[in-house]
Amino acid sequence: SNIQTKKPKWLRVKLPTGKKYTELRGLVDKYKLHTICTSGSCPNMGECWGEGTATFMILGNICTRSCGFCGVKTGRPETVDWDEPEKVARSIKLMKIKHAVITSVDRDDLKDGGSIIWAETVKAVRRISTGTTMETLIPDFQGIERNIDRIIEVAPEVVSHNMETVRRLTREVRIQAKYDRSLEVLRYLKAQGINRTKSGIMLGLGETEEEVIQTMYDLKAADVDVITIGQYLQPSKKHLPVKEFITPEQFKKYEETGLNLGFRHVESGALVRSSYKAQKHIL
Ligand code: SF4
Ligand code: SF4
Repeated sequence: SNIQTKKPKWLRVKLPTGKKYTELRGLVDKYKLHTICTSGSCPNMGECWGEGTATFMILGNICTRSCGFCGVKTGRPETVDWDEPEKVARSIKLMKIKHAVITSVDRDDLKDGGSIIWAETVKAVRRISTGTTMETLIPDFQGIERNIDRIIEVAPEVVSHNMETVRRLTREVRIQAKYDRSLEVLRYLKAQGINRTKSGIMLGLGETEEEVIQTMYDLKAADVDVITIGQYLQPSKKHLPVKEFITPEQFKKYEETGLNLGFRHVESGALVRSSYKAQKHIL
């Protein structure tokens, strides 16, 4: 088998440090605040938190979808908490977050796909934590325009939607999603006036270099401004295996290709997550 299990040295995790990190960690623990950074034990916490960026998840912890790479639980989701927008906004304020990345589970069970809570969250952050900029990393809302429009109306500084993988592997990696539908969502966001659009893919799932470059072309054709490219890591043995560890040189090559294609920002590296260096993507 060509499945690799031993992590190369460039993936060894740096322990988070710094005064700002220690402070935030204290707040998060004390108030039981929910961030993706801590629940996913992200290797970039020291860096992101030091710069005042963190990622928050809304609409619960249980997803209606079951993507093969994702560590989030699948099942019947919780009932919607209408106080959630306010709670998230208060956490952001308490943590003095300068740039908040907000994401959610997919709520295919809800008629509005969760878009009302999404819009209310953006509004609550603007009201309660004045000056905090936002990236909303949204689901595809099954391509339903009136739901996507609720995000467009509140105009977050950056709106992202991840392709996650190349066209050929989409079925295997995110069974309920569609490659073209995701591209269409990105194209629509930009066409409707979103200032910065962004998307990300993970590598090491068995894609070829040609397929990665094709995906970059497709994203460029959809007018996407920013792309992130990182290494896929298996959240548990039940998830898709890592087929390959991409070398730092290869990540660098993709970065150069992306910049040559004209993307505004390209974050490409083994430890890159879709919210890595997110504050920079507003500009
Ligand atoms: Fe949090 Fe994202 Fe930064 Fe990781 S990369 S620490 S999840 S903001
Ligand atoms: Fe995970 Fe998002 Fe897929 Fe749900 S839709 S399983 S949260 S990647």
